[in-house]
Amino acid sequence: MQEFQEGDYVEVKTKKGVFRGVLLPKPKFSDDDIIVIKMDNGYNVGVVPEEIRLLRRAEKREARREIKVKFREGLPTVSIIGTGGTIASYVDYRTGAVHPALSAEDFLFTVPEIVEEANIRASVVFNILSEDMKPEHWITIARKIKDEAEKSDGIVVPHGTDTMSYTAAALSFMFEKLPLPVVLVGSQRSSDRPSSDAYLNLISAVKVAKTDLGEVVVVMHASSSDDRCAIHRGTRVRKMHTSRRDAFESVNSMPIGEVSDKVRFFREYRRRDDDLVLRDRLDEKVSLIYYYPGMPLEVMERMLEGMHGAVIMGTGLGHVASEFVPLLREKIRDGMVIGMTTQCIYGRVNLNVYSTGRELKHAGVIPLEDMLPEVAYVKLMWLLANYEPEDVTHLMRENLRGEIEKRRFLK
Ligand code: GLU
Repeated sequence: MQEFQEGDYVEVKTKKGVFRGVLLPKPKFSDDDIIVIKMDNGYNVGVVPEEIRLLRRAEKREARREIKVKFREGLPTVSIIGTGGTIASYVDYRTGAVHPALSAEDFLFTVPEIVEEANIRASVVFNILSEDMKPEHWITIARKIKDEAEKSDGIVVPHGTDTMSYTAAALSFMFEKLPLPVVLVGSQRSSDRPSSDAYLNLISAVKVAKTDLGEVVVVMHASSSDDRCAIHRGTRVRKMHTSRRDAFESVNSMPIGEVSDKVRFFREYRRRDDDLVLRDRLDEKVSLIYYYPGMPLEVMERMLEGMHGAVIMGTGLGHVASEFVPLLREKIRDGMVIGMTTQCIYGRVNLNVYSTGRELKHAGVIPLEDMLPEVAYVKLMWLLANYEPEDVTHLMRENLRGEIEKRRFLK
């Protein structure tokens, strides 16, 4: 291995076949002695040294900076707005270093086939890990989407996966009308790893961005094999696994469609509107509170202090200890909007079954049906900033963007 360097174009013969491609840097999170090759079709393959029968240098690939994107007549234009995370990086084959993808050429390096799908306009609003995102970042992304919408037929937003569903929910509420699809996409494994999902996710996202969809969606692997992606509604999606490629699920719901070779929708969805309406204000004085047995009353009190609203993740059908009821009643009387969701994640809140639930409902706590807690949190921030206080309570219970499902889905 010593005589080979990251970035060399190599040919490897193994029992499983011959692989040609660029030698990538050793994966960051692996202790194995595995070598990873990026093949010409964009896929990465990992080979353990014991399997190698022959490793030799092959004809070198074109240098990174010589690739140029040409405008192709007749293809739709898709804007890629980078925000950071694993997906928004590419490997420079000459140096082996992982860089943020900043231009159309950089994205092309991860997925050369996107030029067959669309003319790409690429820009970067910031390059951060999604755990560092704040509501102000959601607003920046929304405004950039609005600008790009004038120049393109679809939007793709590469994003870190950790908080992608919060951003998807925020954009879903902020855009009351959308004349084009807004597709968030991430990857669980970086493009320098053999099992990277970046390639399929990105090309699938571009395909969805060309459809007649007028909603915010998340496109990610639908299964652990590398064959298809699911299209999740922005208000129903959740990261349900720390590392699997199919970590994203539509919860209490179903994906609205799927992408393999083609895009296929199998549920109702909103079509492109004629115009774009953006209401991008958010009230940050909202808490999302996970109730736990033994939570001191003062902790709840502190989390509600100075807030205009709160979403509680209660136990089971939507409960907190009964000693909390007087505090919540008082806060609601003083004008705070408090909604109840469940830490069960699956299923629907029901405050009519047990006495604590009935007391909470009587105190004015709003049962939020089957809405995901994170979605309810974002929705309340958006409602409080854009509507009169008296409308917020009933709008929290109304289905505005698919965040409340009337249908029941078996799990
Ligand atoms: N934790 C980071 C994030 O969510 C990186 C992992 C990823 O992109 O999924 O941005």
